Amino acid sequence: MYNAKAYAAASEKSPLASTTIARRDPTPNDVQIEILFCGICHSDLHQVRNEWSGVMPTVYPCVPGHEIVGRVTKIGTGVTKFKVGDIGAVGCMVDSDGTCANCAEGEEQFCPNFILTYNFPDKHTGGVTYGGYSDSIVVDQRFVLKVPGNLDLAGAAPLLCAGITTYSPLHHWGVGEGKKVGIVGLGGLGHMGVKFAHALGAHVVLFTTSPNKKDDALRLGADEVVISKDANEMAKHAGSFHFILDAVSADHDINAFLNLLRRDGNMTLVGAPEKPMAVSSFNLLMGRRSLSGSIIGGTVETQEMLDFCGEHNITSDVEVIPIQKVNEAYERLLKSDVKYRFVIDMASLKKEA
Ligand code: NAP
Ligand code: ZN
Repeated sequence: MYNAKAYAAASEKSPLASTTIARRDPTPNDVQIEILFCGICHSDLHQVRNEWSGVMPTVYPCVPGHEIVGRVTKIGTGVTKFKVGDIGAVGCMVDSDGTCANCAEGEEQFCPNFILTYNFPDKHTGGVTYGGYSDSIVVDQRFVLKVPGNLDLAGAAPLLCAGITTYSPLHHWGVGEGKKVGIVGLGGLGHMGVKFAHALGAHVVLFTTSPNKKDDALRLGADEVVISKDANEMAKHAGSFHFILDAVSADHDINAFLNLLRRDGNMTLVGAPEKPMAVSSFNLLMGRRSLSGSIIGGTVETQEMLDFCGEHNITSDVEVIPIQKVNEAYERLLKSDVKYRFVIDMASLKKEA
């Protein structure tokens, strides 16, 4: 074991603060990474504040962060995928059983025994896993991805969660040319959804509660922007969408969007607000519409997404911050004031004692 610098929350009411955590020394299949950049996902905020207590209660201290890009500093004797000095990336998962049907298909995100990057049991240390708000991490090579060389590293970090979480359902539901697609919420996930749906050739409509994001949405690839609080604007799109991706982090009325789906249209939730939502059954009965969910993506699809980003030169629009500003960034996330992902420059952690 060795000591790593990190930022952790000591309780659901505590701000994140500098600390030291124990990491394992690399075992034969492990890759040790010096973390260069880590994105701030709204899931980090939900988890730090224990907003998902019913599903995955937070164990403190909690070190969040699952949009990790860094440099390989050490490898185990069995590692073939990376050498020291390479760039490696880690997303939301660091382990799975490797034996179930989902793992066999490279869909480890559905493995009943998957281990998320933070707040999950850590078989090596006996505690819980600690995420990327840290100067280093040690991860099994199966869960370390390769970043195409042409991508800016700070802009690539959010691909590891916001990227794959939007790429995966767009593919699963056949988004492409000739499809009218809605993206709800222009935050970290939503802005990647707009970029991917546009790159796939769909007609993209962005729904936002923030009128000041309209120009950005058009620049990012939306063909139209609808202010979702404006009932007249919403009514113009009734019954017209093949697919809608909802990436909203807070309580909102999803019925207003279900009503915009055409016959057999699907709305997929990736947003994970704290409280359950109400669904009017008539909005689904009419037109045989469906409502579903999606969670991140497996290692195979995550690498495919990174390679797609390399080919199409897609990265996240980021605001790079020092780690000392992380608590301020959380407050801004709650005000939908992010353009469009905060990414921590981990060199700033060196300043901490
Ligand atoms: P984010 O950057 O904070 O963006 C959320 C966006 O939702 C905001 O920018 C805002 O967009 C909109 N919004 C916020 N409050 C709203 C409200 N009260 N009513 C309507 N719209 C509202 O968050 P994120 O990191 O993209 O994450 C979004 C959600 O996805 C979170 O709940 C997160 O936990 C979840 N998530 C799920 C997965 C998965 O695998 N399923 C993976 C990662 C994250 P506008 O200003 O445009 O309205
Ligand atoms: Zn995330």
